[in-house]
Amino acid sequence: MHVALMGTICSGKKIFANILKDEYGFIVIDLSAIFCCDSSIEPMEWIKEHNPHFEAAIEAISVQKEADLHDCLTPNEQQRIDSDAYSPIISKNTHRVTDSETSEETISIAKKFDFSGKEEKEDQKEDQKEEEESKELTLITPEENKESIKALFPKKFPKDYYLDEESQIRVEQITTKVVRIIKDYRKLDFVIYPVVDLSLWDSLLLTCYHLDSPLKMRYNSFKEKYGEDIELMDFIELEDDIVFKSKYQTWKMDKYQERIKNHYVTDGTQEDLKRKIIEFNPVNEEMIRPKWPTYFMRLAHIVSSRSNCIKKSVGAIIVNENQQIVATGYNGTPFGFENCYEGGCSRCNDFNNKQGENLDLCVCIHAEENAILMASRVQTDGCSLYVTLHPCALCAKFIIQSGIKKIYYYEDYNSKISRSILSKMKIPVTKIDPYH
Ligand SMILES: [Zn+2]
Ligand SMILES: [Zn+2]
Repeated sequence: MHVALMGTICSGKKIFANILKDEYGFIVIDLSAIFCCDSSIEPMEWIKEHNPHFEAAIEAISVQKEADLHDCLTPNEQQRIDSDAYSPIISKNTHRVTDSETSEETISIAKKFDFSGKEEKEDQKEDQKEEEESKELTLITPEENKESIKALFPKKFPKDYYLDEESQIRVEQITTKVVRIIKDYRKLDFVIYPVVDLSLWDSLLLTCYHLDSPLKMRYNSFKEKYGEDIELMDFIELEDDIVFKSKYQTWKMDKYQERIKNHYVTDGTQEDLKRKIIEFNPVNEEMIRPKWPTYFMRLAHIVSSRSNCIKKSVGAIIVNENQQIVATGYNGTPFGFENCYEGGCSRCNDFNNKQGENLDLCVCIHAEENAILMASRVQTDGCSLYVTLHPCALCAKFIIQSGIKKIYYYEDYNSKISRSILSKMKIPVTKIDPYH
């Protein structure tokens, strides 16, 4: 699993990465100084300097994986590895995503990899050239580098680092190198932070999380890291420049909204973040690829966006045993009728009516009803229904009559009658939250 952390300045990305390392055995790739790097340093050297644990971690985890595969797996799990190409297996302290290739291969790749920058034979010439060039450079130690970052941040931020052409080229070079490393070790678990422009990471299937915490706490944390003398207004200006003026797309949430699997909003303390991370389970395999119920319930929410009802948007999907969609439906007035939100249904537009009241006066057709009407019993018999709101009593009758055998819903509905009708018919009704 490859996790990317995004978010506001000093929102806790480093803490998050270390929790993934300690609790789930991830390898951390720290790119936090990516904007301030000396442009003369070779990208691989830069990565190694800022991630001194990196080489050893890859070796140790590769060996650990080999041992775990033989010691911890039940026959069922072993079978899953063979049958499901991207099924992660989570054990006590080691999160492992494995595929059909053997772990011997992982180790041999790990051993073959030379951190001097000569990963592949065909690149040797080019790398030798790079090596010769880098000999002429004076490499700075991580400590010196930290000091130089400290000195540079308050003074030169942001224009020299977030806005200039040269820094953009460096970010692209280092990102390309990191992508290549992760691809070489794709079976190991990596957490990368901060990820500044998702378009640079397109060739990896990254699981992205976004973090935010209170401004005051982030400001204090920034001062601790980079210099006591920065004023609050300078910090605000810096962040505004990054969010609203930068060429990088880190915080352009509108573009990457759907790729972010969770937003962690914390009170800024390490304890709060840790509790929220463990509660959410960021290494859940559904974060890589959703299971069918999650997938269909998310689709049902998209279907609900076509609703024209002023009271509530509901979406429904009928799926057959082969996980094929038979029909979709959303709620609203009948074909040709004025839309509910434009006044088409007087019952919905009378706000004295509460949920489930006076439904006999309602012109709107319910989402499940529409989905069932769009198909026929020939198609719906034996199917499952995914609906964003628990069915009402009327829809419960239609569901039974259409031969639907299973119901998944997201939000509760105030109807004892529909629950008792469905339970009388022994139709399993399961509440699911596709976002957790
Ligand atoms: Zn309506
Ligand atoms: Zn209904």
